[in-house]
Amino acid sequence: MKARDSGAYCLLIRLDRAAEATIGRLGRFRFPAGYYVYCGSAARGLGARTARHQRGAKTIHWHIDYLLALPEARLVACVPYPSERRRECEFNGSVQRQRGARVPVPGFGSSDCRAGCPAHLTHFRQRPRLPSRKRYNVQVVNS
Ligand SMILES: [Zn+2]
Repeated sequence: MKARDSGAYCLLIRLDRAAEATIGRLGRFRFPAGYYVYCGSAARGLGARTARHQRGAKTIHWHIDYLLALPEARLVACVPYPSERRRECEFNGSVQRQRGARVPVPGFGSSDCRAGCPAHLTHFRQRPRLPSRKRYNVQVVNS
């Protein structure tokens, strides 16, 4: 497997106003207005995965698809962190340590998380920072 085709990614999503959505089997939740950071990973096809999120896939496959399908949701940024190792929990942890971080839906996007993250989706009222590529020594191949 090519290292550059696997890795983690972070999405920054903005909700202009509060919305409600059913997130698969997790149930129905209210999402306050503000910013959301989602940390995911792709064991292969990282480029394809981020491209899919960016063009707004019409089929629902992951929890994040339910959120992105809301008319109120806007994808603000999509940052890939190519690496051979799974690092999305590391990125998720650094996002959740920021001031104002809140977990709106326990278990969101973390069904196969082994690091004990409460969820891989975090809400902020103010725009948060995404993990910097430099700090995590990430090589960017496509940007
Ligand atoms: Zn995790």
